[in-house]
Amino acid sequence: MTHKDSSSKHSSSSTSLRSFIEVAPNSDFPIQNLPYGAFIPKGSTAPRIGVAIGDFVLDLSVLANEGLLGDEARIQSYFSDPVLNRFMEQGRTVWQTTRNRITELLRSDCSTLRDNPALRSRALSSRESVTLSMPIRVGGYTDFYSSIDHARNVGTLFRGAENALNPNWRHIPIGYDGRAGSIVLSGTNLLRPLGQTRPSDDAPPTFGPSKALDFELEVAFVVGVGTHLGESIPCSQVNEHVFGIVLLNDWSARDIQKWEYQPLGPFLGKNFGTSISPWVVTIDALTPFLVDAPQQDPQPMEYLRSARQVFDINLEVAIRTEKMDRGASFCTTRSNSKFLYWDHQQQLAHHTINGCPVAPGDLYATGTISGPTQDSLGCLVEITKGGKQTITLPSGEERRFLADGDTVIMRGWCDNSEFRIGFGEVTGTILPAVQVSKA
Ligand code: CA
Repeated sequence: MTHKDSSSKHSSSSTSLRSFIEVAPNSDFPIQNLPYGAFIPKGSTAPRIGVAIGDFVLDLSVLANEGLLGDEARIQSYFSDPVLNRFMEQGRTVWQTTRNRITELLRSDCSTLRDNPALRSRALSSRESVTLSMPIRVGGYTDFYSSIDHARNVGTLFRGAENALNPNWRHIPIGYDGRAGSIVLSGTNLLRPLGQTRPSDDAPPTFGPSKALDFELEVAFVVGVGTHLGESIPCSQVNEHVFGIVLLNDWSARDIQKWEYQPLGPFLGKNFGTSISPWVVTIDALTPFLVDAPQQDPQPMEYLRSARQVFDINLEVAIRTEKMDRGASFCTTRSNSKFLYWDHQQQLAHHTINGCPVAPGDLYATGTISGPTQDSLGCLVEITKGGKQTITLPSGEERRFLADGDTVIMRGWCDNSEFRIGFGEVTGTILPAVQVSKA
């Protein structure tokens, strides 16, 4: 069978779906996933678009130039771009047609690629041999605050248990506009930020490296199709605009944040760096993992009435210190995006209800995803109760917050009895602060 014989009778989520490429059962990237990323093959300097399959990257620019992804020259050029933006802008019909074509080409019973060694060697690279680059050009970045357990825990630390949830919290998906320019790819090292803090309420503020550096476990939705100023996106239309999901670590300097956040919200405590995972997992791949969202009380306003479904994505955080063996790490958190109180339809509907435009490549993140139990807390400030408690690592080291040299590793995956859809990892290492020389 060639790809031209393809028919829609094979669903891309079918359990019988198999690739001619061997994929280990515990791989994040079976044929049912096919996440998009940008990569530079060995010996090249030009990023292009590919999908991950098992231990390989499939170079879509090669397939497109062969005319295997559609006849239009327009479509063929998208995959030679260094980022996904132009492809994402085409909308759901193009996304689904392309996904179906790629699936077909990778199927075990499709000979087009399988039986063409010359094409296969040009189109497939081992993932180990390539350099991954930023998959999207991020124009705008919004961070929400949609986990009720996180909001309650942090609110208790900052304002006391009686004022933990602000009066607006159950009515509005709370968010703030973050800094798109400091969003970085997994693997990027970050300097410990300098800033103003006020260690004591009875003393003047001080300046220096943050002493309360933290991670935040989040996922972020990638906007594919944008809107114009004045337009809004109703909940029922959100999936026409959202291309996929990445893991996101919203690094946070709690001492800087605590001193600066009132009255306008997070600023320098957040915008020194935000890390994302390199593979954009599509909404189409994740649809089998939608589950009912938690009940909302009170019922939200009309414009926030969504399908009330959230993604059942297992999420994990681990820390590796400089003293630990390579490959060793300590798991701090096991959480799940199904705990989110506000879902991604409500977030984007709220974001645009006033006519605020969104653009291809915009990211909107969920906010820290904590669950109801002690082992499911999505950041250190919750785990250590604001730094009052310590966690002891297997190396004997103790942590209240992150130390220089610590690497944070976040992973995400969906699993059912039939297949696994994984995100890979988002990692980052904290480097010592660079002191500002005195003028
Ligand atoms: Ca956050």
